[in-house]
Amino acid sequence: MFNINIIDKCFQCGQAYRQKDADLLWEKGDYFVFHLTCRKCQASAIMQTNTGQKGVLSIGKLTDASKKDLDKIRQAKPISVDYVIEAYKEFKSNSN
Ligand SMILES: [Zn+2]
Repeated sequence: MFNINIIDKCFQCGQAYRQKDADLLWEKGDYFVFHLTCRKCQASAIMQTNTGQKGVLSIGKLTDASKKDLDKIRQAKPISVDYVIEAYKEFKSNSN
């Protein structure tokens, strides 16, 4: 299980995240991808972390993908944050 403590703060306003602000999308070994919603400014972010032997590596990006949208694309296989965002864009354009 991932630990929210490895996650930093909101990219937009600096509000510290809580465990319940995070929604785990994928988990594979030491690799996690999750969606975060800031409780202060409502900004959404996707974060990937690798908690392997080399230490914690976290990469995050702001996104306009809501938690609900991500639920619809979470069946896809995880590759990277970029992939998640691309998959979301594809989903969004297909649904219009
Ligand atoms: Zn925020």
